[in-house]
Amino acid sequence: MSTSPSDAALPGQPHIAHRAGRLHVEQLPLDALAREHGTPLFVYSTQWMLDALAAYQRGFEGRDALICYAMKANSSLGVLRVFAEAGCGFDIVSGGELDRALAAGADPSKVIFSGVGKTRAEMRKALDAGIACFNVESEAELEVLNAVAIEQDRRARISIRINPNVDPKTHPYISTGLKGNKFGVAHDRALAAYRHAASLPGLEVVGIDCHIGSQITEVSPYLDALERVLDLVETIEQAGIALHHLDFGGGLGIDYNHDTPPAADALWKQLLARLDARGFGRRKLIVEPGRSLVGNAGVCVTEVLYTKPGEDKNFCVVDAAMNDLPRPAMYQAFHQIVPVSERTGGASTTYDVVGPICESGDWIGRDRTLNVAEGELLAVLSAGAYCMAMASNYNTRGRAAEVLVHGDRATLIRRRESLEDQLRTERFD
Ligand SMILES: *Cc1c(COP(=O)(O)O)cnc(C)c1O
Repeated sequence: MSTSPSDAALPGQPHIAHRAGRLHVEQLPLDALAREHGTPLFVYSTQWMLDALAAYQRGFEGRDALICYAMKANSSLGVLRVFAEAGCGFDIVSGGELDRALAAGADPSKVIFSGVGKTRAEMRKALDAGIACFNVESEAELEVLNAVAIEQDRRARISIRINPNVDPKTHPYISTGLKGNKFGVAHDRALAAYRHAASLPGLEVVGIDCHIGSQITEVSPYLDALERVLDLVETIEQAGIALHHLDFGGGLGIDYNHDTPPAADALWKQLLARLDARGFGRRKLIVEPGRSLVGNAGVCVTEVLYTKPGEDKNFCVVDAAMNDLPRPAMYQAFHQIVPVSERTGGASTTYDVVGPICESGDWIGRDRTLNVAEGELLAVLSAGAYCMAMASNYNTRGRAAEVLVHGDRATLIRRRESLEDQLRTERFD
């Protein structure tokens, strides 16, 4: 086993690493998987996911806690199955996600439903399934959910999502807990909203929640949100409304580009100390991690189609594109890009790594120093979260295949999408 110094910092280690010059996911070399399944190809390490989950489980040892995987990060059935079998709950944001979670074997009593735009049909479906809690995001939604529950002769268990107005210090598109964001009920409206909810016969108030953003790499925004939420809990409970659970959302960051977020257990050690100090350490706790459970577990393997020297820039055109890896186009996000097989000959050149889509926004990485040639494979790292789940058919490109690796075993959890798959819903006369 040889690891060159440049690999030492690969996100996803130890399960994603070069061995004898070939990039492996757990025990399987990616060049062989790409030969078998074609490219672009997403490959995930099961062990990385289980280790990430274990960090949360360690963090909550001895506490009454429910970890709900925020499945929008990666909702492929094969990935959901890993978390369902490990005992996870799920945080869903649509009726479709509920169906997916149930299809993967989720326990509905561990499902919570977030999102600002739940439809009546989605509410009915979730009430029928018997989910644990609706995380209600507005006062208008309280009214609709109350009416739907009464129609069905049920009571909907609810938590109100509070917007604590803290800055998560992340990209504006993934900040969700600031005053100007569309999410949650404003901190100063919270008590009135809870009073109203408690008066509605179709609703049963069971908790409070917040979710302040994504790719958070510091502890302080979590501590700020926690204090703000606990202040509210005290106020709401003084008004005679009991809150059985406290849900602090997700948002913990991962390593994309030498980022150093706290480990989940270290983060929760600090948060639990504050909860204990304020007398809430025995309360039921819920968290909704998405990215931090899957992000560094995945890579996207892509083939170099052309290298294209230019006056200002050299381009490396690959067969993966913004429809497979939307994060650079959407958030100017950074993914490390490394050769699948290390070369001994050849020279390094600085490239913009781009896809074939007819948009200048279709880039995967800028100014990357790579020693590659046409026909060779690159791996785009940290591609387990918000990649395949956001993939589209733009430019009539079929969505990529996905392989789940565990030890020396590979399972094709999604075959490559065919043209027939894409045309199935369309007609003309
Ligand atoms: C997206 C989302 C999460 C998960 O966020 P990550 O940054 O992926 O951990 C959790 N809760 C809610 C309500 C979300 O919308």
